[in-house]
Amino acid sequence: MFAIHTLQVLKRTPARLPVRHYTQYLKEHAYINGAWVSAKDGNTFTVKNPATGEELGRVADLGVAETQDAIQKAYDAFYTWRDTSAKERCEILKKMFALMVQNQDDLAKLMTAEQGKPLAEAKGEIMYAASFYEWFAEEAKRTYGDVSPAMTGKRGITIRQPVGVAGMITPWNFPSGMITRKLGAALAAGCTAVIKPAEDTPYSALALAMIAEEAGLPAGCMNIVTSSRENTPAVGKVICESPLVAKMSFTGSTATGKILLKQAASTVKRVSMELGGNAPFLVFDSADVDTAVAGAVLAKFRNMGQTCVCANRILVQDGIYDEFSKKMAVAVEKFVVGNGMEAGVTQGPLINDKAVQKVENQVKDAVALGAKVLIGGKRHELGHSFFEPTVLADVPKEALACREETFGPMAPLIRFKTEEEAVAIANACNVGLAGYFCSNNISQIWRVAEKLEVGLVGVNESIISAETTPFGGVKETGMGREGGKYGIDEYLQYKYICFGNI
Ligand code: NAP
Repeated sequence: MFAIHTLQVLKRTPARLPVRHYTQYLKEHAYINGAWVSAKDGNTFTVKNPATGEELGRVADLGVAETQDAIQKAYDAFYTWRDTSAKERCEILKKMFALMVQNQDDLAKLMTAEQGKPLAEAKGEIMYAASFYEWFAEEAKRTYGDVSPAMTGKRGITIRQPVGVAGMITPWNFPSGMITRKLGAALAAGCTAVIKPAEDTPYSALALAMIAEEAGLPAGCMNIVTSSRENTPAVGKVICESPLVAKMSFTGSTATGKILLKQAASTVKRVSMELGGNAPFLVFDSADVDTAVAGAVLAKFRNMGQTCVCANRILVQDGIYDEFSKKMAVAVEKFVVGNGMEAGVTQGPLINDKAVQKVENQVKDAVALGAKVLIGGKRHELGHSFFEPTVLADVPKEALACREETFGPMAPLIRFKTEEEAVAIANACNVGLAGYFCSNNISQIWRVAEKLEVGLVGVNESIISAETTPFGGVKETGMGREGGKYGIDEYLQYKYICFGNI
């Protein structure tokens, strides 16, 4: 029955979404079981444009009861979705991919309006996000099992099955990409999902639900539970503790990840945790200084420094430190700060005032410990949550800026003398997501790439994440990998079947 139904949906699905202005994506309802729903008590929360402080709209503020309902609907839908053929799941995911690509401009404008990143970056994120639907559409067809070596009178095969309902909690910094990187894999594997996006960026998540609906994804397979920061802990607890949820996948801070891990332990759930980073960016004397500066600028200031893989500590070897720091300040001076919707703007606002306060505190702390401000260093005259792109020189490694993730547009430069010293500083932290270094010494490249205690390494390269490669970290950055050929494993489990009396 289901198979016939979905094939019919595939045939009648239009090739394009109706032409929309991006404001038509400003949905005020959450999405459960294919329906657009309000909170039971009618409560809503406000979403603001961080560049202007203006209210973009209000969104349903769901709580425990609605979350339980979403989980139940996802659970019911799982028993039909898991039995669809891999080809059917692939076709629907490909439609979701195509619709995202066709609507790239409007989806990007929506993202810039609620998240603040410059439009060009938002367009890039839409393509990055869509790429996971395409990639996992193809991976859906490659979930092979195994036949074990023969045993006397017995034969064993191993199959891979979807785990069940996947709970997903995602951050605001990549409001589309952090969802599709999980959802693409989950749907491809045959799982259904309950997704709780961040309070600051629910619209991009709801737009993905509109896309899925238009592509013919059956009701209940993708549910979006929107909630305010006030309700979020209760919503998260239900997702983590529900026995109907088999898998919990979280992207966000290490502090929140630890709470969710404890909660998920109560039902011994499968978990993936993509948590905070504190990426070192090492520049060795053998590096080409101009290439290293360009790479460091990109790795540090993309998304106003609000990426988990942002270079957080820039370590530069003594021989080129002075040249590097001068050139870095010159490059950063060229940034154009403003509303991301405006042409030519390269740096938007931070997500909210709390984020600005964190950068401000780190700058004050570093300066008090002897660091020099080469450029920037304070709130931007544009007000709201704008902060001046900042470069600090001679930052001691004891400074907060080196010990904590900044998540803002401030680059602390640290001087080092030897490779051993640089690697020791780089690894002296409790998290390990990305690490970068610039060097033209092949032996050093091999050594340092192996020694960095991180999950991703960029060698003379700053943009390293792609749908084809595994993403995830070590230490308190968490566990599990998203993307690449490993991403779908997070939503599949092995089952061994023994045939006897042969
Ligand atoms: P966060 O505070 O942990 O929030 C992330 C998500 O968790 C949001 O949806 C938030 O909802 C929710 N949340 C917060 N407290 C919760 C609780 N008690 N129970 C359930 N859910 C809860 O993180 P953030 O500061 O917004 O995001 C930035 C962090 O994410 C950084 O540390 C960054 O490195 C990390 N990150 C990691 C990766 C990666 O792949 N490793 C990628 C991107 C970002 P509300 O918004 O409603 O509070």
